Amino acid sequence: MTPRLSIALCLSLANVMAHAASLQPDAAARQAQASYPEYMELLSIPNDAISPEDIRKNVAWLEAAFRKRGLVTQQLPNEGKPMLFAQWPDADPRLKTVLFYMHLDGMPVLPELWAQKSPWVPVLKRRTAAGAWEQIDSSQLFSGAVDPEWRVFGRSSADDKAPIMMFLAAIDALRASGEKPAVNIKVVLDSEEERGSPSIGKVMHAHLDLLRCDAIVIHDGPMHATNRPTLVFGNRGAANAKLTVYGARIALHSGYYGNYSPNPAQRLARLLASMKDDQGRVTVPGYYDHVKIAEADRKIMAAVPDDEAALQRRLGIAKPDAIGSNYQESMQYPSLNVHVLGSAAIGDKAANIVPDVAVAELDLRTTPDSTAGYLGKRIEEHIRAQGYHLVEGMPTDEDRGRYEKLAGFSYQSEGADAAGTPIDSAVGRWAYRALTDTFGSNPEPVRIRMMGGTVPTAEIVEALRVPFAIVPLVNADNNQHTHNESMRLGNYIGGIRAIHGLLTHPL
Ligand SMILES: [Zn+2]
Repeated sequence: MTPRLSIALCLSLANVMAHAASLQPDAAARQAQASYPEYMELLSIPNDAISPEDIRKNVAWLEAAFRKRGLVTQQLPNEGKPMLFAQWPDADPRLKTVLFYMHLDGMPVLPELWAQKSPWVPVLKRRTAAGAWEQIDSSQLFSGAVDPEWRVFGRSSADDKAPIMMFLAAIDALRASGEKPAVNIKVVLDSEEERGSPSIGKVMHAHLDLLRCDAIVIHDGPMHATNRPTLVFGNRGAANAKLTVYGARIALHSGYYGNYSPNPAQRLARLLASMKDDQGRVTVPGYYDHVKIAEADRKIMAAVPDDEAALQRRLGIAKPDAIGSNYQESMQYPSLNVHVLGSAAIGDKAANIVPDVAVAELDLRTTPDSTAGYLGKRIEEHIRAQGYHLVEGMPTDEDRGRYEKLAGFSYQSEGADAAGTPIDSAVGRWAYRALTDTFGSNPEPVRIRMMGGTVPTAEIVEALRVPFAIVPLVNADNNQHTHNESMRLGNYIGGIRAIHGLLTHPL
């Protein structure tokens, strides 16, 4: 055998071996079909965390589903809204342990907005030639061919009960093949994610031994809009701030006092304008100083197949802010966004006055290196550098007599911090390998360094202090959090394959 041929043979053998281990689409579709009756049943149990009784029903149902598959379970008490823990029995001390996080609760519903009898009665729909969704007999899910474009509509059909059912189906696939997982499996199902996971930290701290792991995988949120396998390595946090500029003691007649008593609305406008340049970049000194992006990460971000021309058309803007050189890069920076601006009254109530006060509320998106405290301090220094004296509460007579420019400024984290983990960490490489072995590497998975929105990753990973990867599995157009939430069945099958890939790759 010539060396070249033997190399070729080795490569193709390696290929065959990788593919022999990965769950093929038809096998995954069979596992999906076997799981649809349970999926529909699970979606029929209301899961708004406002009702502890409903949460307990979901937990009881899921506990039985995990036990049926041989996992050992335990309810984690949480003021009447327990979370569920499950683990594969007989952990192998030679293997690394991965904790899979998903959530069983869902957003509140407004049933009258849904195009079906009830958000809690899941239905199967297909798209008509005209592009509308038409309900079809859902028993078609349980036998015969299932079109991957069909969708199941119902609350949490995607967010986040689909990943939980995909996970159970992936376990079924493992059991069916007699394979052992390549990682020790632990699962935690949050019961209050849609309320910002207020209790996840407390519950995790109370069970540190039980939850101990080498990595966390979060199955939540949408895949990239192209539906390519997606990995996310972080998200921004959220903070808010309030800026008040004071004028005269009371609002004044603009005829007698315009040109004499300074106008706080115009002063506020000038102050806000001093915080950003014409290209949208924050000009507050130090604001971006902590942002460090490695060249390798820049390449990965540039490779994300975002259609920015289409995005700009959808938004109705001719040119985006010049923060990063593409959408992904722009999300790596902290933001400074005015979302409320007010002074005096508008409309029918407007009067010819020089206002006494003007207010701006800002929302700041934070990054792991640029916390609410850091950013708030930079803005505060900047306001002072513009000649303002900062007061807490209303200025006193003494303040008014002494300082030409008076303002108030306060800021606080919204309780959701940013989180980030390196793309090339062992966990990132492991997840990438699992996805490329399962789905191939052309095109390769989409890797998002940090997504712009805020999810409670920091709260989830803080207690255990291990690296993480977010592996979203549901279609991007699933309408999560609003009415007519839907899960595309092709994504459901792909999700089972993705999870099976993670479970069969050693970390
Ligand atoms: Zn979710």
